[in-house]
Amino acid sequence: MPTRIGIGVLVFLLGVTILLKRLGTHSVQAIEFPLDVVVAVLVMIGGTALPFTATTRERSYLFVIAGDFAVAVIVLAEANPDQRLLGCLVFGLVGSYIAFFHNLRAQLWHLLFSGAVIVVASIGVFTDVPSGLSDVLGRIAFAIPVITVIPVVTQIALALLSNDAQSSELDPLTDLLNRRGLSRRTSELLQAKSGLDQSLLVVVIDIDNFKHFNDTYGHDVGDRVILRTAYRLHDWARSDAAIARVGGDEFVVVQMMPLPYVGDLLARIAPIMNSPTGEPLSTTSIGIAIHNGAWPDVQAAESGLRDLHRLADSAMYESKRMGGNRVHSIVLTDQQPQQPQRSDGRSVL
Ligand code: GH3
Ligand code: MG
Repeated sequence: MPTRIGIGVLVFLLGVTILLKRLGTHSVQAIEFPLDVVVAVLVMIGGTALPFTATTRERSYLFVIAGDFAVAVIVLAEANPDQRLLGCLVFGLVGSYIAFFHNLRAQLWHLLFSGAVIVVASIGVFTDVPSGLSDVLGRIAFAIPVITVIPVVTQIALALLSNDAQSSELDPLTDLLNRRGLSRRTSELLQAKSGLDQSLLVVVIDIDNFKHFNDTYGHDVGDRVILRTAYRLHDWARSDAAIARVGGDEFVVVQMMPLPYVGDLLARIAPIMNSPTGEPLSTTSIGIAIHNGAWPDVQAAESGLRDLHRLADSAMYESKRMGGNRVHSIVLTDQQPQQPQRSDGRSVL
């Protein structure tokens, strides 16, 4: 909301600027019709409406297109080339907006369009202007970075920052999510349209006697066992699952799916995770908490997810307490915990 209000105020003031420009002595309109006044009024209405309008991707693109066209109309309706060049600076504002909210492709289209308008607007700039040549060159030297360099550099810097933010959500050894990434990804899952109607699964996995691998074979082999567990989780989980490594040898998987798919997925977990293949052999203790049924809203789903995580954690400890290399699952229906269901590691429901 503060961003929307800020942009709304800026747009409104641009409308005011266009009106005041008409009253100034330097401005000469190329056409009789008061096109600039019409655009100014539309711009002011747009600026006032902006804070009260819900933002969607399409509306944001529409805003950019309307902005570019408004600048083009104002610039081309002006007869004084000096003033035209000044008006082109507003393209820099549109470019900065794109840098923050859209991709480089949109930025390039904008640069192409504004470049074409600037070329047309520059006609006569060296011959028909009241000011001297050095003034004009100075203005051009100022306009180039404002219109092109600043938006493009901002866009590249923001893309790099967002890469950085993404890698701060990943575990460097396995490339799985870390705790922070898991939290962001799970709220995305819950807020997805179908998220509230599906079965929600939280799985906690801990490698059995992991310290033994480190102590016996060294840390590199320990790392390999962690990586193998990560690959196995990838093999097992659905492609839209959130898979995280949340501690040295502890993993969490959150996934949602229609109820009929749950049984098959659960039947596959023990054979895959505790497969007696690879050297050195390793097994895991697995705790699963499942919620069958719809959530009334996202808040309920988020608090339900926290409960499921706690239950899956204690289910994992139950597996560990019973000697490891097994799965222990807890099924909730409408958030009422049912009797824990045990398994020998082969079948879990
Ligand atoms: P339990 O069966 O009860 O789970 O015991 P455990 O030995 O598997 O678990 P514990 O939590 O006691 O030990 C985990 C060890 O994992 C402790 C730590 O030194 C080691 N560790 C943590 N991160 C890494 C890592 O990135 N690589 C390696 N090789 N070891 C790690
Ligand atoms: Mg362990």
